[in-house]
Amino acid sequence: MIPAEFGYVRPESVEEAVTSLTEAGEDAKVLAGGQSLLPLMRLRLAYPEVLVDLDRVAELRGVRDDGDALFIGAMTTHDEVAKDSLVRAHAPLVALATATVADPAVRHRGTFGGSLAHADPAGDLPAVTLALDAVFVARSDRGTREIPASEFFVDLLTSALEPDELLTGIRLPKLGEGWACHYEKFHRTAQAWAIVGVACAVRRSNGTVAEARVALTNMGSAPVRAHAVETAVAGGPVSLDAFRSAAEAAAEGTDPPADLHGSVEYRGHLARVLTARALASAGGLS
Ligand SMILES: Cc1cc2nc3c(=O)[nH]c(=O)nc-3n(C[C@H](O)[C@H](O)[C@H](O)COP(=O)(O)OP(=O)(O)OC[C@H]3O[C@@H](n4cnc5c(N)ncnc54)[C@H](O)[C@@H]3O)c2cc1C
Repeated sequence: MIPAEFGYVRPESVEEAVTSLTEAGEDAKVLAGGQSLLPLMRLRLAYPEVLVDLDRVAELRGVRDDGDALFIGAMTTHDEVAKDSLVRAHAPLVALATATVADPAVRHRGTFGGSLAHADPAGDLPAVTLALDAVFVARSDRGTREIPASEFFVDLLTSALEPDELLTGIRLPKLGEGWACHYEKFHRTAQAWAIVGVACAVRRSNGTVAEARVALTNMGSAPVRAHAVETAVAGGPVSLDAFRSAAEAAAEGTDPPADLHGSVEYRGHLARVLTARALASAGGLS
């Protein structure tokens, strides 16, 4: 399959990239790792007139410590994120989930920002950023805008980014003392997309759950926070029975797809089972 004809620019700074996007107008697309965009172009499901390739924009790469948060540059690859010592120490949920994304070849090209801007509900990282209350930083010629994760994922393959906005990076509040995390992913074969996934973080204190965060992958057209589960476990004991009982509410308010891999009911069942497992693991019980 051959993509439709397109123009191509290769900026070397964020400033130049933003100018290119503004000049090209609505028919431009940012090219990051190309792992999702290029297949769509080859199938002619996407046909941008101009590609703005970020490969040479060095300032978009890397992880930095911003005090009470980490900042992950949009062009940092999955492989770099999964192995980064700051990410492992302060945002282990990101490292765990990123290690489950696709295969090594895709992880070496695909980027953290590209995955999130793509806003695929089956992608592993949107639910993770939702659970961690991440903040998305976007630049355009109108200035810099910060978008909370709860507002970033709008619909299937649709983020809150405007066509002329460049995602420069994602700020992740550090998890402090007492937090532990787990990403539970159910997939048909190793290195495949999630049929359902659960991103979970639990803060324990004196044998009880002080706070829990639970977000679901592929249970709707955008990632969903399982607030009913979070409320049910907060203040309660760290026990399998309590986690299983709270997880019964995992599918509440979700609208999962039905496809070749599972019906709506099956995905609801998976959400409950995987949430109980994720809570048990983050709660230190397995
Ligand atoms: C075989 C295969 C298996 C995969 N399995 C998984 C999986 O199990 N789990 C999973 O989560 N993902 C999976 N992926 C997707 C993978 O994570 C991709 O890397 C990711 O979806 C897109 O990242 P990218 O850097 O390649 O972005 P690209 O494909 O370059 O871009 C994707 C979209 O985001 C936009 N975009 C990219 N960067 C920016 C930016 N900085 N600012 C604004 N817009 C931007 C682009 O314009 C485009 O619309 C898989 C991909 C493949 C090919």
